[in-house]
Amino acid sequence: MRPVLADVLAAAQVIAGVADHTPLVPSPYMSGIVGGEFLLKLENMQPIGAFKLRGALNAVAGAQDAAGVTCCSTGNHGRGVAYAARARGLRAVICMSELVPQAKVDGIRALGAEVRIIGRSQDAAQAEAERLVAKDGLTEISPFDDPLVIAGQGTIGLELMAARPDLETLLIPLSGGGLAAGVALAAKTIKPDLRVIGISMDRGAAMYESLRAGHPVEVEEVPSLADSLGGGIGMANRLSFAMCRDLLDDVILVTEEEIYTAMQVLYYEDRIVAEGACVVGIAAVLSGKVAPKGPTATIITGRNLDMAMFTRVVTGQDVILGDKVIKGKTYGT
Ligand SMILES: *Cc1c(COP(=O)(O)O)cnc(C)c1O
Repeated sequence: MRPVLADVLAAAQVIAGVADHTPLVPSPYMSGIVGGEFLLKLENMQPIGAFKLRGALNAVAGAQDAAGVTCCSTGNHGRGVAYAARARGLRAVICMSELVPQAKVDGIRALGAEVRIIGRSQDAAQAEAERLVAKDGLTEISPFDDPLVIAGQGTIGLELMAARPDLETLLIPLSGGGLAAGVALAAKTIKPDLRVIGISMDRGAAMYESLRAGHPVEVEEVPSLADSLGGGIGMANRLSFAMCRDLLDDVILVTEEEIYTAMQVLYYEDRIVAEGACVVGIAAVLSGKVAPKGPTATIITGRNLDMAMFTRVVTGQDVILGDKVIKGKTYGT
């Protein structure tokens, strides 16, 4: 059940030519901050604007003769599944909570998938996906707790280690842990002493709280600049929890204010438009919570953001997230 390096290598064959070999570029600004090389793996350049296409292509390929596929998603997984299902001529029904930004919902509809918006949490969307499995015989593809999804995301680790065998530190945005599990599996099998650190936002960090508790726990889901990192890990988690527990060297939390500043840094210094979820690695370094050693990379996981929100951040305006206000701050002041 638990994927191994051979599964990641097989996934690389499945996604070849569609979702592979994104650029790995240096960030001169961040390199200056850490006093060494700091690299960005640009998964925002994927056809769907996020790395989740890797896992989705691999999982949908494994569900060939299904009546169709369904999933619950904070947005990018749904977009990946919709893209992969369309390519294979399969029906796709994507279940999401009301917290998912409209830009992501629109992106999924544009790929021809059916969209169901259910409740204010991932758990409610999850229940709807399970209902569709029982009622319509659809195959459910978990966003993070599926061996094919984990193996697909792991192909990022293969590419990173092939490009830079000298990498010493890897900073990975962490939510359900499919990305971190797959990438850490691939990269650490190749280089066991690589340091791999997962990073989440400090409000509603399900994997962090679960690792601390020693078992999956539920967290309250709140609006975040890093909306792609929201949601639980599933109380019946089969794979990603144990893999993150065994493979990650550390898990760090960053605040909304730190994410806000890091989004400005990535935009003004590297000229990259990316989601809040992508910059948590940069935020962890800028805040001093992580001191990277040796050549370091982080994964810029996606670009599917709400542009009105993004514009507020990069122009230094206040951002309101539910009952939380992030005080505006002009970049460089
Ligand atoms: C899904 C997602 C993540 C986190 O991936 P997990 O496998 O859930 O840990 C990070 N960034 C973006 C943009 C995502 O869509």
